[in-house]
Amino acid sequence: MLVAQHMKRMRNAVGRRLGDDASNERVKRTLVRSLYTQQTSLAIGAFNGIVVSMVAAYVVQDLLFTAAAILLSLIAVVRTALAFFLKIDGNENSTPYLEFIYELGAFAYSGMFGLFAAMSIVMHAGAPVEVLLVAHALCYGAGICARNAGRPFIAMGQMALVFLPVMVGSFIEGSLPLIVLGASIPLAIVALASITSNVFRTLHQSIASADTSRKLAAKMERLALKDVVTGLANRAGLDHALEQAMVVARDEQPVALLWLDLDRFKEVNDLLGHRAGDRVLVEAAKRLVNIVPAGSTISRFAGDEFVIFCKVVGRAHARSLATRILNDLLRPMKIDGERFEIGASIGISIAPEDGTDAETLLQRADLALHRAKREGRGCSRFFDSSMTCDLAERREMEAELRLAIQRDELSIFFQPIIDLKSGRIHSFEALVRWFHPEKGELLPDLFIPVAEKTGVIVTLGNWITAQAAKACATWPDDVSVAVNLSPLQIKAPGAALGIEAALGDANLAPHRLELEVTESLFVEDSEATDRFIEYLAAKGVRFAMDDFGTGYSSLAYINKYPFSKIKVDRSFVSGPDVGKKTGAIIRAVAEMGSQLGMEIVAEGLEEVAQVNAVREAGCTLGQGYYFSRAVPDYLATLLLAQEREDNGIGVRLRASG
Ligand code: C2E
Ligand code: CA
Ligand code: CA
Repeated sequence: MLVAQHMKRMRNAVGRRLGDDASNERVKRTLVRSLYTQQTSLAIGAFNGIVVSMVAAYVVQDLLFTAAAILLSLIAVVRTALAFFLKIDGNENSTPYLEFIYELGAFAYSGMFGLFAAMSIVMHAGAPVEVLLVAHALCYGAGICARNAGRPFIAMGQMALVFLPVMVGSFIEGSLPLIVLGASIPLAIVALASITSNVFRTLHQSIASADTSRKLAAKMERLALKDVVTGLANRAGLDHALEQAMVVARDEQPVALLWLDLDRFKEVNDLLGHRAGDRVLVEAAKRLVNIVPAGSTISRFAGDEFVIFCKVVGRAHARSLATRILNDLLRPMKIDGERFEIGASIGISIAPEDGTDAETLLQRADLALHRAKREGRGCSRFFDSSMTCDLAERREMEAELRLAIQRDELSIFFQPIIDLKSGRIHSFEALVRWFHPEKGELLPDLFIPVAEKTGVIVTLGNWITAQAAKACATWPDDVSVAVNLSPLQIKAPGAALGIEAALGDANLAPHRLELEVTESLFVEDSEATDRFIEYLAAKGVRFAMDDFGTGYSSLAYINKYPFSKIKVDRSFVSGPDVGKKTGAIIRAVAEMGSQLGMEIVAEGLEEVAQVNAVREAGCTLGQGYYFSRAVPDYLATLLLAQEREDNGIGVRLRASG
């Protein structure tokens, strides 16, 4: 009774714990497998059983006894053979079947062994035979509890089937020692059942936790290949997919690698915060998923860059896919109630013609993307071999730029900024020039990005500020100098000290130095930027917002930082977009500037009509070829002297160069 209840409780508890989900099924399979794994112990048990029963039958010389011994030996042989031939496999359906087979054999063998031992007692087979069989039966019953603890129902069933006949036989025989033996058996059963259930619990827990860790490891592996924001593959996921795809792609149809960069993501991210930025990425990802052919890999490569990898029929197919993507990404996105047209640029490389390994394809798509961005964004470009030359040129320039300062190939030119009321020179903007011994004059738009990429910009920037400060120190006190600062230069450690050193060396009052920064500086929140501006502003250095109107969010920055000047980008003054609308924008900015006590500079003034228009709109300062191009320092000094001689008013400067 006790055993039956215990077993029922256990069965229920195990059933509850095992439940019926996949994980429990796996645990159960492992446990059932444990029945079949130790074939040697099974074989030794069977061998013992056969020898013992045969010896006993030989000694006793009784027909029934011999028949029982033969039956026991047969069962032993059959189940040992089955254990060797039946193997548990991955198929879940085989588990209950295997368990049942084992259970059948185990119960038959145990019951038979118990019965055989009991027979020896009841038939008075003689003390040696009785000891031989009873000792073996009890040892077997105890041993089996440990061996089969993974399936407690079987273990305890076997133990009970061995022990109970011996107990009954002992009571029937009725002598005192055997009555004591019979009475001790239930106690042994309870103790062994408890041991079995403990072993089972420990076994089950460790198998279950091993299963959980395996599942977690698999999940981690999946997560490691996924981008958390968009759910697309991440860089590692792309590498993984590329590796596999490249193996297949070698002799099959062409594959296209499209490297896509969102054009105006940073502005949204900055204006509305990272959450809104994430929503843009999710929306872009959704649109991409809807457009690309089935079987493509789409990954978010970094920031606002996506890489798509798909089979194509040919170049025309890749081009039409890129066009569809570009058009779809141009559809306005509504983020936080505001509409944004994000747009994108795409670089494309095709396997096998542009390369057969992932690295080459990525590198070439990247080059094509650079070209697309340089050619005005919002378009797609295929890789072509001239782009590799671009890269080589850029590498060469990197190396040369490092030497240019030492070789004295760089100089600073100064472009006057004119007070539109008085017509006098208000200040000069310092613009760097590189006179290359072979390539001639190189413009900053060409080499500043290279300097930024290689980090040379920090040394270069400090050198430019020092030169500009020195020149300014020779000018009249009311004329100041403006220096352009690259965001990377500002974020470098010790950036403020570089500026201070330039001022100190030139002995220039801080208020005569103005630092021009662009909105791109504020794209990422950076403590370093805030500290830099706060520190130098406290010293008296002034700041100007450069290229105003080319981003989304200038007004927010204008409130946050102590700008003394706003430079309206030259696209508002000249170029295809000039019209009523830009006039209205300049007017609004000028209005705001006068309210906040800031100067408004119009850049790119080339004609008198533009000068008059921006003056009327409220700009206080102007800069452009109409007044003068950027000139070397001695000409700047000359311009100043000339102006003072002429007494300034209304002078229109025109310098050579
Ligand atoms: P920026 O700061 O907007 O500088 C003004 C640019 O407009 C200069 O080009 C200038 O020569 C040009 N410009 C001036 N007036 C006119 C005009 O009437 N019409 C036209 N079409 N252009 C005009 P530059 O010198 O080629 O410089 C280009 C950009 O390179 C600058 O734009 C600035 O962002 C960067 N840069 C120049 N010098 C430095 C420097 O020393 N350090 C850093 N970090 N960047 C620099
Ligand atoms: Ca500037
Ligand atoms: Ca500018």
